[in-house]
Amino acid sequence: MQMEKLVSLCKRRGFLFQSSEIYGGLNGFWDYGPLGVELKRNIKDAWWKDMCQNHNELLAPPGAPSTYEMVGLDCTIIMHPQVWKCSGHYDLFHDYMVDCRVSKKRYRFDQVRGKWVNRDSQRVFVTTMAEPDHEEEDLTRRALKIFNLRSKDLEKLSFDSRVLTLDKIQSEDRALVLGPDANELGTLTDPREFNLMFKTYVGALSGEEGAAFLRPETAQGIFVNFKNVVDSTRIRVPFGVAQVGKSFRNEITPRNFTFRSREFEQMEIEFFCHPNASAGWYQYWRNRRLQWYKDLGLAGERLRLREHDTDELSHYSCGTADIEYAFPFLPEGEYGELEGIAHRGDFDLRSHSEGKLDPKKRPLEVEINEHGQPRHRGSGKDLSYRDDLSNERFIPHVIEPSAGADRATLAFLCQAYDEDQAPDEDGKMQSRVVMRLNPRIAPIKAAVLPLVKKDGMPEVAVELYGALKKKLNVFYDEKAAIGRRYRRQDEIGTPYCITIDSQTLQDRTVTIRDRDSLEQWRVRIDDCVAEIEKRVT
Ligand code: ATP
Repeated sequence: MQMEKLVSLCKRRGFLFQSSEIYGGLNGFWDYGPLGVELKRNIKDAWWKDMCQNHNELLAPPGAPSTYEMVGLDCTIIMHPQVWKCSGHYDLFHDYMVDCRVSKKRYRFDQVRGKWVNRDSQRVFVTTMAEPDHEEEDLTRRALKIFNLRSKDLEKLSFDSRVLTLDKIQSEDRALVLGPDANELGTLTDPREFNLMFKTYVGALSGEEGAAFLRPETAQGIFVNFKNVVDSTRIRVPFGVAQVGKSFRNEITPRNFTFRSREFEQMEIEFFCHPNASAGWYQYWRNRRLQWYKDLGLAGERLRLREHDTDELSHYSCGTADIEYAFPFLPEGEYGELEGIAHRGDFDLRSHSEGKLDPKKRPLEVEINEHGQPRHRGSGKDLSYRDDLSNERFIPHVIEPSAGADRATLAFLCQAYDEDQAPDEDGKMQSRVVMRLNPRIAPIKAAVLPLVKKDGMPEVAVELYGALKKKLNVFYDEKAAIGRRYRRQDEIGTPYCITIDSQTLQDRTVTIRDRDSLEQWRVRIDDCVAEIEKRVT
């Protein structure tokens, strides 16, 4: 599938719009249109229902080490700044960036690719940020231009394979680098650290005392409420806390549609368990989360689970796996992260319980811990847990399945897009675009279509529409030929079309058409609501 086709469909049919589009847009921010909001809401609802609400705490699900409980939370976006100090985000949550002195553009350093290009004794490092399909072409074009050559002179140039990354360029070589949007050499700065948290100021204080950050993940709200949850409910370890909400990261180069945005939504679980059982729970959540995507339609080779190598793991982690999807905008064979499932040990609860900073020290001052990393002094509150049956006191281990609602939405959209042939009302084959969304997440569950706009058909259809609308998001359409109306619904992934025809007026039955199989069958109008409901929930 070509990504451009999906992007255009999303705009044309109201799934996704660029934020503030009439003012030229704002890079890295996206609005969900009337259909997009339903789709994303259905995905978040499916996650909440499957992970949190419909969980039966009296029975251990298949593969789970034991029974467990689940509850939810909804925490604020702005939290005490010390939370981010303690979580490590204040000191460590950064990417490297390079700036171009001339174009004033800023690039995420690991996304700038390049090659040495030689002509006789002259050499230049040409860079590109072009999409993978156009990278080669862009590099060649820019190399010819900087050496003042035409396409026919290409053989005068030799290219070194793309092994040199920008960080390896010695400072004396920097004068030889052609930045991605520059027309002259040597305009890029050294790579510099750039913290991804958005900063703001709380209250009337304008100075640093009022400084605060928009959360870059929802997880920390759960950790700092651990004690509140335990104390206010009768919940016992093992248990999980789920949260869905907005997170913000000032990504240097947001790209690939909504995949890397600056404002996005996360669906996170922090699962608290006994340290002895945490390896088993980690396995359980990996498998459970992978299966969830499969059940909603992301099957096949495009979906995979990748276990991190030990050198990729944080010092406190005994295991991390990513659920990845081969998004069509990535080069062949590459995958993008949909969700990370991390075994976080007792790192978070332990660091939030560490002693308070000496008040004489600056609140955000850096101390180095035994791993050579900044020490983040916590609240000084005891966040350990006492098991009232065994009387054992311990700091629970945490398994964290952390998913992105926007990335999941994008993956379901990419997977659903299809083109095929379907017969029109005269039986002639016509090409159609069809979004094969799982009925559970489809924005519109059914369309009610009177075959013609006369003979009493609209009246019956309106009545049925009203009955369906009470239960499900359905659509009524009486305009245009029936074949066209079907195709408009196929294109937005409506799983069922219900047609009211002349037979309906005689025997009170309607036709239901299945979007994927194109099969049609008749049901009694009085059974229609139950029939559709059964198929879409
Ligand atoms: P990446 O390596 O792609 O930046 P990450 O490893 O930093 O992602 P996490 O911190 O593990 O991501 O966040 C958990 C989930 O939140 C990700 O798997 C992803 O689905 C989502 N997410 C993270 N950053 C973004 C973003 N900028 N835009 C959209 N979704 C995001």
